[in-house]
This record gives sequence, structure tokens and C-alpha cells, in this order.
Amino acid sequence: MSLREKLKALEELQQVDIEQAVVQAEALAVPRRRAEIEAGVAVARKAWEAEQDRLAGIEREKRSQEQTVAAERDKVKKWEGRLAEIRTPREYAALSREIDIARKTNESVGEQTKLLTIQADEVTRSIEALQEKLDEKESGAQEELEGLVRREAEHTARIAALDARRAELATRVEPALLTRYENIRKRRGGVAVTQVVGGTCRGCNRQIPPQIAIILVRANTIENCPSCNRIIYVPEAVSPASPPAA
Ligand SMILES: [Zn+2]
Repeated sequence: MSLREKLKALEELQQVDIEQAVVQAEALAVPRRRAEIEAGVAVARKAWEAEQDRLAGIEREKRSQEQTVAAERDKVKKWEGRLAEIRTPREYAALSREIDIARKTNESVGEQTKLLTIQADEVTRSIEALQEKLDEKESGAQEELEGLVRREAEHTARIAALDARRAELATRVEPALLTRYENIRKRRGGVAVTQVVGGTCRGCNRQIPPQIAIILVRANTIENCPSCNRIIYVPEAVSPASPPAA
């Protein structure tokens, strides 16, 4: 295998590795997005539940007031029965006053109950609106979560295809060169092989010394950028527009 072909294999290996890094980053974003969707639904459900609790509280209070009113009413009835049996005016006046107080209390509690009924109606309407919001959120989330499952399957398939392509390309480069490639890749943010365009290294944007630029045009040695140490090549030398003469 010629060096030119090895360089071509490295160039393609680099593309595969970059693409794989992109797919892996996308795959990492999926669980994050899933958590965001679920948190959104949880917030809507919490708002709906809080309003349900509020309604339950109002209704409990209403029932307790209604019980109070019923008990007071029974008392008044009993006292009214007793009024007929009272002989002294003083006792009569005292009991009448008690009855009066109990009636007034009942009236004011009844007013409060009416207010609670209005409040309960308002909260019921608010629950309906929140329920609608929650339903919308849940069905939207359902749809998006299904999309995420599909995307995960796509990621898995793409990574498998890239793995296979990578393994094939790796056989075209000798182990020592492959190790060199991997070492540079680790130290240089995932990019070990880079083009030189117009005398400039695309990896670090520094000028390549003219003597190296001349060597690169021949594409029959592996050269490194003196500044960033990446493996450098001139694209038109590695992949000429027309096949080079033998
Ligand atoms: Zn460089």
C-alpha cells in the first residue's frame, strides 16, 4: 500500500472519527432532553394537583360549616321548644337572647359558605384549564419521547456502521501509524489529521515552512505540523483530480 493510500485511509478515518463524535454527542443529548420533557410534564401535573388540593380544602371547610349550621339549627329548635315551658321572664329573656345569638351566628356562617361555593366554582374552572394544559403537555411529551426512541435507534445504527467502516480503514494503516494517529487525536481535541490549504495548517491556522510544503506536494511521507504536531497533507496531492501517472 502506497503512502498516498495510507494518507487517504487516515483522512477518511479522521472523517469517521469526527462523525462518530458528533453522533455520540447527539446520543448524549437524548437523556438530557428526555429529563427536560419529563420535568415539564411533572410541573404541569404538580400545578393541577395543587389546585385539586385547594378544592378539597375548600370543600372540607364547606362541609364543616354546614355541619356547624345544622347543629346550631337543632339547638335553636330545641331551645324554641323549651321557651314555651319557661315560667320566669328572666329565664325567658336569657334563652331568647341565646337563640338570637345562635341564629345570627348561623346567618354569618351561611354567608361564608356562599363565598366558599363561589371560590370552589372558580377553582373548579381553574382545574379544568390546568387539566387541559396537562393533557396537552402529556400528549406532546408522548410524541416527542417516541421521536427520541427512534433517534436512539438511528444513533445506534449509525455508530455500528461507523465502527465497521473504521475497522476496515484501520486495516489499511500499519499499527505504528495508527497508534501515532490515536495519540495525536487524544492530545489535539479529536483531530489528528488535517489539511494544509494555501500553505496554512487547518488545525492550528499557522503557516507551514516552505520546505515542508514542498514535501507535502509529493505525498510520499507522513509529515507533522511543526506547530500543532497534527499529521498534515495537501488534499490535491493525496486525492488528485486525475489519477497520477504510474
Ligand atoms: Zn498545525
